[in-house]
Amino acid sequence: MNIGIMGGTFDPVHTGHLLAALCALEQAGLDEVWFMPASAPPHKKNAPLASAEQRFVMAELAVEGNPQFRATDIELRKGGTSYTAETVDLLRELHPEHRFQYIIGADMVMYLPKWHRIDDLTAAIGFIGLHRPGYEIRLGELPERIRRSVRLAVMPQIDISSTAIRAKRASGGSIRYLVPERVREYIERNRLYES
Ligand code: ATP
Ligand code: MG
Repeated sequence: MNIGIMGGTFDPVHTGHLLAALCALEQAGLDEVWFMPASAPPHKKNAPLASAEQRFVMAELAVEGNPQFRATDIELRKGGTSYTAETVDLLRELHPEHRFQYIIGADMVMYLPKWHRIDDLTAAIGFIGLHRPGYEIRLGELPERIRRSVRLAVMPQIDISSTAIRAKRASGGSIRYLVPERVREYIERNRLYES
């Protein structure tokens, strides 16, 4: 099967992630999208606020009901810094029957040259890049080899980030409609992201 990997911190997962995954699935002809929370993302200074287990449970709740979406805890079980190159090695070892592509938002597309072992990655997998409000994708500025590995998909622009959701929670605002209803219930029940 053709599998899209939607990696992220997912602190918490939100509507922007889900719509990005759906657009990538439709436009790149994927069979499934796997939501994969990172253990410790290499590019983030601060540790996630929610625990690994909480971020995974939220990913599971978010994909519930869509038979083409699922959550995987492969990076959480591995622990340590989640380098995509290492994860892809592991995925290909565990699932030689599948073909993998990585789904990334515009902020990550322009950051690709800095990814650990990027040349191994572009040799092994393709990237599906999505526009995101506040970030410009300038493929022309990327090295040829990376540029050729990225295919763009369009999506209705959604200006939602986990950072904004955490801030809204901390200031006592509602996050209804920004995250799936089940995820909202989980966040509120567990009092996540309160100040
Ligand atoms: P944070 O604010 O904590 O960085 P985030 O909203 O950027 O959270 P991440 O978990 O960092 O979410 O992102 C996971 C992936 O989803 C990244 O590839 C990111 O570019 C992409 N993404 C996140 N939000 C959107 C959005 N609104 N539209 C398109 N892509 C998005
Ligand atoms: Mg981010």
